Amino acid sequence: MKWVYSFGDGKADGTAAMKNLLGGKGANLAEMSNLGLPVPPGFSITTEVCSYFYKHDQTYPAELRPAVEAALAEVGTMAQGRLGDAARPLLVSVRSGARVSMPGMMDTVLNLGLNAETTEGLAKLTDARFAYDSYRRFIQMYSDVVLGVEHSLFEEILDSEKEAKGVDLDTELNADDLKKIAGLFKERVHKELGRPFPEDVHEQLWGAVGAVFGSWNSARAVTYRRLHNIPEEWGTAVTVQAMVFGNRGETSATGVAFTRDPATGERMLYGEFLINAQGEDVVAGLRTPQPIAKVVRERQGGKRPAMEEALPKTFAELSAICARLEAHFRDMQDLEFTVQEGKLFMLQTRNGKRTAEAALKIAVDMEREGLIDKQTAIGRVDPSALDQLLHPTLDPSAQKEQIAIGLAASPGAATGEIAFTADEAEKVAAERRDVILVRTETSPEDIHGMHAARGILTARGGMTSHAAVVARGMGRPCVSGAGMLKIDIANGVMTAGKHVLKRGDIITIDGATGCVYKGRVGLRQPELTGDFSTLMGWADSIRHLKVRTNADTPQDAATARKFGAEGIGLCRTEHMFFDEHRIVAVRQMILADEESERKAALAKLLPMQRHDFEEIFKVMEGLPVTIRLLDPPLHEFLPQSEQQISAVARDMGWGFVELRAKVNQLHESNPMLGHRGVRLGITYPEIYEMQARAILEAALNVEAAGGVPVQLEIMIPLVAWKQELDRVKERIDAIAAAITTERGKVPSYMIGTMIELPRAALQAAQIAKSAEFFSFGTNDLTQTTIGISRDDAGMFLTDYLNKGVITRDPFVTIDAAGVGELVKIAAQRGRSVRANLKLGICGEHGGDPDSIRFCHETGLDYVSCSPFRVPVARLAAAQAALASINEVD
Ligand code: PEP
Ligand code: MG
Repeated sequence: MKWVYSFGDGKADGTAAMKNLLGGKGANLAEMSNLGLPVPPGFSITTEVCSYFYKHDQTYPAELRPAVEAALAEVGTMAQGRLGDAARPLLVSVRSGARVSMPGMMDTVLNLGLNAETTEGLAKLTDARFAYDSYRRFIQMYSDVVLGVEHSLFEEILDSEKEAKGVDLDTELNADDLKKIAGLFKERVHKELGRPFPEDVHEQLWGAVGAVFGSWNSARAVTYRRLHNIPEEWGTAVTVQAMVFGNRGETSATGVAFTRDPATGERMLYGEFLINAQGEDVVAGLRTPQPIAKVVRERQGGKRPAMEEALPKTFAELSAICARLEAHFRDMQDLEFTVQEGKLFMLQTRNGKRTAEAALKIAVDMEREGLIDKQTAIGRVDPSALDQLLHPTLDPSAQKEQIAIGLAASPGAATGEIAFTADEAEKVAAERRDVILVRTETSPEDIHGMHAARGILTARGGMTSHAAVVARGMGRPCVSGAGMLKIDIANGVMTAGKHVLKRGDIITIDGATGCVYKGRVGLRQPELTGDFSTLMGWADSIRHLKVRTNADTPQDAATARKFGAEGIGLCRTEHMFFDEHRIVAVRQMILADEESERKAALAKLLPMQRHDFEEIFKVMEGLPVTIRLLDPPLHEFLPQSEQQISAVARDMGWGFVELRAKVNQLHESNPMLGHRGVRLGITYPEIYEMQARAILEAALNVEAAGGVPVQLEIMIPLVAWKQELDRVKERIDAIAAAITTERGKVPSYMIGTMIELPRAALQAAQIAKSAEFFSFGTNDLTQTTIGISRDDAGMFLTDYLNKGVITRDPFVTIDAAGVGELVKIAAQRGRSVRANLKLGICGEHGGDPDSIRFCHETGLDYVSCSPFRVPVARLAAAQAALASINEVD
């Protein structure tokens, strides 16, 4: 068993391909060493040692110690020193490194190998101030990370020494001061622990190695792993490397560079450096780093020289290395370097994190530069991140004053006047002013206000709260759960800390970061041309899944088509009933005692519905449109509070008591599972008949007016029995026959069903005998499978996720709770009786990349999602197709 892998001097035991064993950092150091780049020598202890460590009661395999000794000797030879040798002291860094980067999650120790003797030796070889500064830094870091002594205790000592000397800055302390401070630090450690700070350099080394392995199971690392789905078994490697020093004078420096601008993707050496400093100085923020490239300094209007100007030779060397690394890894690199007395050393390289905008540009540019092919380019952009590009964003250069922060619940930025109720929001919007709806939390009664608002801000609720889910669906920016907001609707004010804002005051929210700002902040509109459309074009040529949209209005349909939707997968018809001009007729229809009365009310609704559909069909220009017949329980259309009941009673000429009794009669204790969907279609067949007539006549009218014939799909919700579908189908076919008689023809149409109940999924073979298509309604299917309603799930599921009871939110990802399994069963059983059964999905999951991959693998024909997620779905579908090609390879 090989436990230790060395690197340095233009060679290495490992390669970049060995990340699982050596960690990302160790593997890439090996690769850079193999490329002959200047890398300080070192070695990596493998992740397998980490696994062994945890399996064997925190002990090491017997062969580890000799292997480390041998590797250390080799490092000494290359670096011309020896650990613990006062005449030629070797200092090392000890760092963690998992397969994937877990920034700041695990431990690092620098300057290891210093004790009273070696520090004295180092002072002789270099200079005393440098040596004692390194020593006190080492004691501080080691004590904190390995021995568990509070960092602040050392800061106290440092501060009181500075005060005694009457100086402000660490740099004003001389060698003697630092030597004294190092002594005080050691005394303090002795006092805290009851044993001395280790002078034995090997004890130091094994202490640090143990601390790095131990940090794999620190609370913060465990949390990070859970949030990012990183398996515990992966473990971390430990990389031990000879130290180089960026704090050895004016020809020394330390820095971080990206081979392209990580914010915009522009091709340039982008980054920062500090002369005469160690990496931690940059992090501590005591000194402001300077840009690496001259153009960046000029753009920022900086006075102090860029690295290109201050260290031109080293800059040229660094540029050449960056170009080489980028070409080698075929991706944008994020690297760390140190310059020690004019000599450049590479300390790390990895694929750089980038914004969505940069990811897009880099992917397309690299394809053009011949570095990667189109398929690789498609895989380089995270579909979920595209969301960031499709909404207005905050102008990064705008002045802003932050007043609160919550969850980044739905992307995009929005500015507008504060409204505290949905009605207020609607009123302001009707006057053509921008409005932000601010609520403690939202409920289904707020929908009209959410629709009218530019953005939504709530004080309570998580990522799956009503506000968050609905806002994402509508494409409205949303910040949820901004707990510091206190909202007083009665007085029309909200407070956020010291800020007090009134109804009508302007605020700006950023749904991409969760920040809330006072006043108007400049916005940038999204660009859907250039690189975006290039990459989308590549994605479209690869994917098999069609992408449709959920749209109830011609506006939504038009937005979705602009984003590339290839049809409507779900047109919910109930929203059309809520319109203020229609609701009276809807209520008359619901409250009617006699069928004739009901028919009269429906006759008023028919032309309005027909008009709705005509407008949508015109926008869709012959693409398929799935229209779902009425779904929600009828009480949703009735007034609820006593006040509302009395107002409606007055309007409709009903008695209050009478109306309240009717409302109570229709009240359902669990409306989600109640008298809704096809059940209504069977008990009140006139409703579906009216809707079927409106759809068929609208299609006929659009065609007669010279429009492209629409591909009609009429969809029945909440079916659980084949017989339910048969009943409704008979009625629709009869209406079609009547229209044929009246007008001489009728458009062709398909009738299908939603699969949104577990029973429907299991009965798919029966149902498919009657249904020409299935559309998976995974919103209801998830609720009915896990037995949790979506509106109630918010807080509760967030808590479950935090406690690790579940790792993925079933309302986001289809396969998180067995819902996917039901979809698979239904697809397979349905197609077993009807081979060409068309399959789609129209629940929220249709816009989630993981779920889209699942849909591709399950053989669905299309996914349908909200307009703003259409590009996300196009890219995710392409990546799914590529993944299955690669699996076959
Ligand atoms: C569903 O249940 O997944 C669905 C799309 O219908 P709704 O969200 O309207 O219930
Ligand atoms: Mg549903």
